[in-house]
Amino acid sequence: MTRTIDLPDEAATRALGQRIAAVLRADDVVALTGGLGAGKTTLARAIIAAAGHLGEVPSPTFTIVETYDPPNVRLPLVHADFYRLRSPDEAAEIGLDDYRTGAALIAEWPDHAGGFTHEPACLSIRLETVGEARRAIVEPGADWHGRAP
Ligand code: ADP
Ligand code: MG
Repeated sequence: MTRTIDLPDEAATRALGQRIAAVLRADDVVALTGGLGAGKTTLARAIIAAAGHLGEVPSPTFTIVETYDPPNVRLPLVHADFYRLRSPDEAAEIGLDDYRTGAALIAEWPDHAGGFTHEPACLSIRLETVGEARRAIVEPGADWHGRAP
């Protein structure tokens, strides 16, 4: 079941991030799609902050992967921006599977890493620009039943 959530301002995006962070588990994937400026990094930052991280959350545009570990966050988090990957093989080459072990993955441009939408643990969120506002189209995998935002 697909759900659409209106995000009239950044505070609404942060609130969505808080709801996701509250239920996030190891081995989950939050797959964030949408064009440049749609709000993928903003939502990822909100999730990471709500999980407990107090400092800056750099965009992983150039590093591809940034990790956050307890005790600073409630559970290990991997924030990835796969935009620069040219093929899913490159995701394997950077050691994505090792990063993911025991962690929740928040992925921008997930399709550049082969996509994760077939995984039951994947929460797919497509962000769209609506004038100055945004909207989120949320598709939860089976593991998200009963806890999807
Ligand atoms: P992306 O990672 O998708 O390229 P960013 O999160 O880096 O996008 O940038 C999104 C831009 O839109 C930021 O300038 C942010 O302030 C703004 N923004 C994010 N969410 C909202 C929202 N719900 N309403 C209005 N502006 C938003
Ligand atoms: Mg981004």
